[in-house]
Amino acid sequence: MRQGYRCEDCNVAIYPTTTRSELVWLRERAHVAREVARHSGGGLDQWMMEGLAFLDEHSDHSVIIISAK
Ligand SMILES: [Zn+2]
Repeated sequence: MRQGYRCEDCNVAIYPTTTRSELVWLRERAHVAREVARHSGGGLDQWMMEGLAFLDEHSDHSVIIISAK
């Protein structure tokens, strides 16, 4: 099972390579992760970069966490 974010407004989804609990954490702590990204010079994990980009793009939308085969 892949875990991902889905925007209910745009009907698009991404599946970063990580666990569901990490995706939950990132969604709740996106502002913290952004601060880390700013100070680490882009040293974040790939899944976190993907996740943050998606959350930024859909920040005013309804983003849910989904499972897919
Ligand atoms: Zn959206």
